[in-house]
Amino acid sequence: MADRTPVIGVLALQGDVREHVAALTASGAVGVPVRRPVELAEVDGIVIPGGESTTIDKLLRAFDLFDPLRAAIADGLPAYGSCAGMILLADRLAGGTADQQTLGGLDITVRRNAFGRQVDSFETDLVVDGVVDSAERPVHAVFIRAPWVEEVGPGVRTLARVEVGHAAGRIVAVRERDVLATSFHPEITGDLRLHRLFVQIVTERG
Ligand code: GLN
Repeated sequence: MADRTPVIGVLALQGDVREHVAALTASGAVGVPVRRPVELAEVDGIVIPGGESTTIDKLLRAFDLFDPLRAAIADGLPAYGSCAGMILLADRLAGGTADQQTLGGLDITVRRNAFGRQVDSFETDLVVDGVVDSAERPVHAVFIRAPWVEEVGPGVRTLARVEVGHAAGRIVAVRERDVLATSFHPEITGDLRLHRLFVQIVTERG
């Protein structure tokens, strides 16, 4: 792959698809929307956007994408999930609806809508392991009815924790093999460093 531009799909059933396509394209990849199994088969990596995880779960099944996407990720397709996308990539889910399923891929337990009613949405600065210069120039993280990671398995690297406030210490970015997830939404801040990290993961795998 080093000799060609990686093609990275954005699951385009619901959520902030356009922002991810734009961020990927600005980060040295070709970003393409994915709605059908034939489109999934063409990509070198997949982004699962934020939105509503229960809705994306239902649409995945309605579009016959649930099983192919789960199989592709289990088979090593690099994946990046933000917010609802993190929920969908978690092997275990707390606070889901009764029939809600996840694709899995990350040996983590995620808690949905974890930050509580008072703080549905908030912003904070984070140092994110693996993100260029984030100790000097922190990532401005936007959380919107976000999940946090409650438990990580032994193969999972914790990349970032909330540093201040009532949720200080909570894990909000993780990586296991070529699967990356953040509780927050880098696609809406104009900071491309997380998308660049994912493009690098996809490129190095190929
Ligand atoms: N609360 C949403 C869910 O459970 C996630 C919110 C988001 O993606 N911004 O799916």
